[in-house]
This record gives sequence, C-alpha cells and structure tokens, in this order.
Amino acid sequence: MTRFDTFHADGVRRLYEVTRRVNSSTDLAEVLELIATGVCEGLGYGVAAISRLEGNTLVMAAVGGDDAVRDEIIGRRTPAEQVLGREFSIADHWGILRFVPHDRLPPEQISSLWVPDIEVSDDPDAWHPLDALYAPLYSSTGKLLGNMAVDLPPDNKVPSQQQRELLEMFVVQAGVALENAQRREQLSHQVRHGEALKKLALLSGTLEIEPALQEAAEALFEAVPVAQVTVRCFADDVEDHDNYSAGMPAPANAEDSTVMAIRQDLVRHAAQGRLRPVVFSVRDEDFGDLEAAPLIRARLEQDGWTHGVLAPIGVDREVMGYLVLLREQSNPSFDPDEVAAIHEAGRELGRLVRDVRLRRTERRLLVELRELDRYKGELIATISHELKTPLTSIIGHTELLEEAGVQPSSVSAIGRNAARLDRLVSNLLNYSRIQGRRELQRVPLDLVELCRTSLEMLRIQAQSAGVSLELLAADGGPVLVMGDAEELPRVVDNLCSNAVKYTPHGGRIEVSARALDGRGEILVRDTGLGISPQDQGHLFSAFHRSTNPEALTIPGTGLGLAISRTIAELHGGDIIVASVLGTGSEFTLRIPLIDV
Ligand code: ADP
Repeated sequence: MTRFDTFHADGVRRLYEVTRRVNSSTDLAEVLELIATGVCEGLGYGVAAISRLEGNTLVMAAVGGDDAVRDEIIGRRTPAEQVLGREFSIADHWGILRFVPHDRLPPEQISSLWVPDIEVSDDPDAWHPLDALYAPLYSSTGKLLGNMAVDLPPDNKVPSQQQRELLEMFVVQAGVALENAQRREQLSHQVRHGEALKKLALLSGTLEIEPALQEAAEALFEAVPVAQVTVRCFADDVEDHDNYSAGMPAPANAEDSTVMAIRQDLVRHAAQGRLRPVVFSVRDEDFGDLEAAPLIRARLEQDGWTHGVLAPIGVDREVMGYLVLLREQSNPSFDPDEVAAIHEAGRELGRLVRDVRLRRTERRLLVELRELDRYKGELIATISHELKTPLTSIIGHTELLEEAGVQPSSVSAIGRNAARLDRLVSNLLNYSRIQGRRELQRVPLDLVELCRTSLEMLRIQAQSAGVSLELLAADGGPVLVMGDAEELPRVVDNLCSNAVKYTPHGGRIEVSARALDGRGEILVRDTGLGISPQDQGHLFSAFHRSTNPEALTIPGTGLGLAISRTIAELHGGDIIVASVLGTGSEFTLRIPLIDV
C-alpha cells in the first residue's frame, strides 16, 4: 500500500466519522476540531484551520495539526476582506477550493499569514512556504459563514486532483457544521430575545421607572450574552427631574459628561429621523458617527470592554434614555438578530417611560382639577350668598315703590330684572348646595304626582306662550320611587319648564311617567327648538347653553340641567336626552323604583 492509499483510507474513515458528528452533535467547537484534525490526520496536511465569520471578521475557531501552531493562531481575528478578497483577483479556482501560488501573493499580505518553516524546493510540484490553499465556507443559501485553510500538504507537494476532492468533502462538512450551528444559535437567540421582550412588555402598568429599568437590565443580561448591561433614563424636567439608571451585573456609573454627550448624539439622530442602535467597537475602530466616541472609548478601556451596542430608549422621535450592552475582547460581535432585539427593547422601554410619565401628569392634573373645582364651588357659594341679601331688599322696596304710586312701568322693569337676578342667584345657590351634598332625605314619592304638580305650576306660563301641555295617562297607577321631597321635584320642574321655554308658539309638550325594567321614568317630550348633537355633549355641564342662536335669545343660566343631573345621580338614577335640532327634544329622568 502506498502512503497515499493509507491516507486515502484514513481520510474516508475520518470523513465518515465527521459526517456522522456534523449531523448529530450540537457542540460546534467539538465538530470543527474533529474536522480540522481529520484533515491533518486523515489527509496528511500539517495544518488545517477553520475560522468563523463574525460580522466582517474571521475568527480562528479550530486548528488541527501542530499544537504550537494551534496555540499561536487560535482566536486570531482577521478582516474577512483580507483573506477572501484575494479570491476574486488572484486565486485559482479548484472546485470549491482556492489556491494562491506564492508568486501571486501581494507582499503586504505576507505579514498577516502564518508561514510554515520549510525549505523552498526547485521541484515544480513542491509546496512553497508562501503558497495558500483555502476554501470559503458558505451556507446552502450562499451566505458566507467562514473559511477553512490548510498548509503543509502531504509530502510537501501541491495536492493532486484526488487529494483535492477528498479535501473538498471535509470543506463541505465544515460548511454544514457552521450552518447548523448558526441555525441553532439563531433559534435559541430568538427564543431568549422573545422571552426578554415579553418580560419588558409585562412591566407596562408599573408606576416607578427605576425598578422597571433594573428588571429590564436583568432581562437583557439573561437574554443576550454580554459582560455588562446599562440602562439609563434622562430627566424630562416636567414630571421627572431625576436621572434614573440601572446596570447588570455592575450598576451604571458613567460620568455625567459621557451621559450628556451620548444624549446629544441620540437627540441629533432623532432630529435626523434615524433613531436606531449604533454598534461600536474599539477592536474594529468603529464608532459610527458618535461624537461621544472618545468618552465611550475611555469608559470601555477602563473596564476592559471592547465592543457594544448603544440603543435609544424612545418612541417615535423622542429620546428618553439609552441602553448599552458591552462585550469583552474574546466575545463575538453582535449579530443582526441581537441588535434588532436590543432595538425593540429600547422601544419597549420608551413606551414604558412615556406611560409612567403620562400617568404622573394625569394624577397631578387630577389633583389640580379637584382643587380648582373646590375653589369654584366656594366662590359661587360665597358670591351668591352675598348677592342674595341686597336682592331681597331691592325686591321688597320695589313693592313699596309700586304701592307709593311711582311710574308703574319703571317699577315693573326694576321688579322684572330683580326677579331675574333672584332666579340666577337661587340657581347658583342650588348648584353649589347640591354639589356639596352627599346625603338625601328619602321618602316614597309618586312620579305621576310630581308631573301633575309641575304641569299645574306651568299651566299659565304655557298658555301665554301658546304651547299645549299634556300629562299622558299611563295605566293610571302610581310610579313610586324613594326620593328627596325637596330635590326631586326640582328636576321635574326644570325639565318641564325647559320644554315650555324652548318650544315656540303652537308647539306641543307631552309629559308621562311609567315603570320600566325596575326603574321609574319621567319622559318630557316637546316639539321645540331641539338641540344639536354637539350641544347635547355638553348639555349637563354647569353654565352650558346651546350654541343655537334662537335658544340664546331666551334667558337662562345653563345651570338647571347640571343641577338636575346631579340630583338624579344622587338618587342612583340619570337623565338622558334624545333630540333633533329644529324638530324637538325628549328628556328622560330615570330613578330606581321602590324595592317592595
Ligand atoms: P337654562 O335653560 O337655564 O339655560 P339648562 O341647564 O336647563 O339651563 O339648559 C341648558 C341648555 O340646554 C339651555 O340653555 C338650552 O339651550 C338647552 N335646552 C334645555 N332644554 C331644552 C329643550 N327642551 N329644548 C331645547 N333646548 C333645551
């Protein structure tokens, strides 16, 4: 048996073993090691080296052959371009192998090569120390995954056709191993990133930013293999004057000047509409366009970190902070999946910070509004109370003037206006009283009876306005509710008097009471001016009057319905309105029926 035959048989056996392991093992380092030693021991090469592509850099992952060579080149990082760029220009294509004869090698590349210590021979078939034989490793979809290089071929001769074919088979297996590993990694990354993002999403609803940042830092630290995660949220100077930060495993401790510089970079990116993560590296001398680069570099060097990702915490164009994930020299570069997950984490935190701040604003406004409302109530109560006394005196004296025979038209003008002022002040007093009231004196009341009394009181007013006023007989029985005998009639009076007030001459008003679904109802329907949908939305707010010009010519305060609804609500009921502008309105008061 020749030496080649021995290698051939060995090679095939090794190849068989490699193929089996490539398809069954999940340990990439072990499989690559097996391939590299297989090429050396099975095919007779002195050195076989497999590197894996990380970003744009080839990282030496497995070396077969001489241990000294292995120790020298394992972990070595070479820009991929430097090795594989040659392929297009100077290499001979031997199937999937690439061969660069020593005389074609550009001198500037020699320095980066590992050169074996062998004699240069005159034999034309002899291997020259500067000859290079390698094969780029591709995925099945044509993506570059790594490179396999061999040196010191058997007998120090340029490999024969048959030897190359065997080598090619190992190369294919190395490609498959890298592709399998990449798929596995991608899958497990996706699962871990998904879990981390889910954790961040679960933080929404939180009220405190700082603990949420700490949890986010921990979730990211678990999901992405890094040496350090730092999360920082800037003060917004509106709700929040504090800077928050968290870190894992070490707490965040960048200098204020560094934080400021990063903030300026991110704000600039936001203004340019490119708020995205920036991948930076001391190793590759790449900091994108970050003006904070010198400060970041100094910070990295202090702790021995070499590369990282800076991602904005923000939503749309608003920057609220940032997260930084850092790695050490020996760690791989960040892959696109990782960067995408970090980007999403930044957005998720942005939403969280925005929500927490919005809720704070809401709470503050609510307190302010309550205070304003209390103040308004006090003001109305005080002023109307102060107005009431002189008004009563004016009205009394007007009567005296009339009796004394002063010009009747002037006296009646004074009387009318004083009465109008009196109504306004009474309404104001009612309003402030009912706003402050929490308890009612409840007695059984018949809604039919309330309607009857109300209509009786309005009869003359309706006649002089030329509108018909009718109480529709229901089934005749009473409709009993528990109500305040002073307040509830006020509501019925208000609804009925509004109907009379806002229905022009010739119109019709129908009032009815009934029991329906456990509630007593009073319906007041008119063929009057009607109310636009916009006005209906504000009808029950204090001081609101319809924007309809026709309705505005009729005197009113805009307080009646606000008072009425508050009274209805204090009774556990409500008032609803259905109306068509120009056609008429129907107001319904609903109060729970007496429990019998
Ligand atoms: P006021 O009648 O004193 O202005 P209200 O609170 O009772 O105050 O009513 C508020 C506004 O709702 C009125 O100004 C009026 O424009 C409108 N409105 C109330 N009832 C009717 C109705 N039956 N038809 C048309 N508009 C009405």
